[in-house]
Amino acid sequence: MTSPLDRMMDFDLTEEQRLVRRSVREFAEKEILPHVEEHERASRYPTELIRKLVPLGYFAPMVPEEYGGSFVDVMTYGLICEEIARVDWVVASVISVTNSLVVGSILKYGTPAQKDRWLRAIARGELITSACLTEPGGGTDLGNMATVARRADGGWRLTGSKVFISHAAHAGLFFVVASIDREQKHKGVTAFLVDPKATEGITIGEFPMRTLQRDNLAEVHFQDAFVPDDALLGAPGQGFPVLGSALDMGRFSVAARQIGQAQRCVDLAIPYALEREAFGQRIGEFQLIQQKITDMICRLQQARHVVYQLGRMKDAGTPRCSMEASMAKLLASQAAVANALDGIQIFGGYGLSAEYEIGRILLEAKAMEFGEGTSELHTKLIAEYALGARKQ
Ligand SMILES: Cc1cc2nc3c(=O)[nH]c(=O)nc-3n(C[C@H](O)[C@H](O)[C@H](O)COP(=O)(O)OP(=O)(O)OC[C@H]3O[C@@H](n4cnc5c(N)ncnc54)[C@H](O)[C@@H]3O)c2cc1C
Repeated sequence: MTSPLDRMMDFDLTEEQRLVRRSVREFAEKEILPHVEEHERASRYPTELIRKLVPLGYFAPMVPEEYGGSFVDVMTYGLICEEIARVDWVVASVISVTNSLVVGSILKYGTPAQKDRWLRAIARGELITSACLTEPGGGTDLGNMATVARRADGGWRLTGSKVFISHAAHAGLFFVVASIDREQKHKGVTAFLVDPKATEGITIGEFPMRTLQRDNLAEVHFQDAFVPDDALLGAPGQGFPVLGSALDMGRFSVAARQIGQAQRCVDLAIPYALEREAFGQRIGEFQLIQQKITDMICRLQQARHVVYQLGRMKDAGTPRCSMEASMAKLLASQAAVANALDGIQIFGGYGLSAEYEIGRILLEAKAMEFGEGTSELHTKLIAEYALGARKQ
């Protein structure tokens, strides 16, 4: 018989989607989870775990079959992100950056040659990708970008710095945005597909963090780096629509990952509340602990509904669902961070002991509140869409 907690995750999924969820979860718990803490302590990037995704079709679920990918519906893609993120931020981030930001942009704006070159390589698992958007001067105000692209014979020269770039030290393809005319603000923003290994003038530096020590983040400096004309993704000055569409899907997959984190907090807190005793009884019998468990389940499920609805809208072919994407990202961020905080409280002091996973999840949940738009940005966007001040 299905428990109410299992039903919460699966009740309106198709049989095939349930099967995918079960398979991804089994894989993630068996192959990834046992290594995460060790990788974090050793500052080690999980290259070998990422490789394991490829034959299972979890690495390139949004690459169409004609390019060798394992193309699935958007909802199933979200389930893959959710289940992998339930155990590991970094491996899930590889899937979501690559499929939402990079594959999505190439599919929509790439030339046939770009599709042929990059999508096939991604589908074969030959490279992972990074999205180079955020700059030292700010990540929210992307129209004010300081990295510039200057016309050169046969291509463009990029100069500027990007920070917080996930996977940059390991990536074989950078999705880069730069301005061809800073005075034009967002109308000058232009997107490029850059091969970092074949481009002179790119240096990748360490970007130390208090969390995600798994060699995940880097800063990337472009110093007059020459990229050929065929690196241009979309037309010059048309980078903002490319970004808009990439972030729309990116927000879905990040929100799905946050659902995974919020779920993991529930999964860890319940057995602990049933086991740990104080004053001669299990702590799960105290009403104040029960309140936290109820809050955790309710906020998880509330956010999950909005995220899944977004996935279904995308599967139904709704061209842009930007307000819903902001709602999903905002609610899922709130659920993941609040569930991690409540989870730690249920664990008492052990919540912050290195022995337990829940303390690590808090900073990793908080980290995801910034990627693909902060909570403040999404709060503002939702109101602007609702008030008609911003078009979808
Ligand atoms: C773990 C991690 C991984 C990341 N990975 C990547 C990556 O792979 N690629 C990449 O390009 N970036 C990445 N980022 C960067 C992330 O996208 C930025 O941190 C984010 O966009 C915010 O930019 P910022 O940190 O410069 O904050 P700022 O833009 O400086 O904002 C500072 C504060 O001001 C608020 N604020 C800004 N504008 C407004 C406004 N109009 N109204 C109200 N409040 C506002 C923000 O919400 C925030 O609270 C990552 C970040 C983290 C933490």
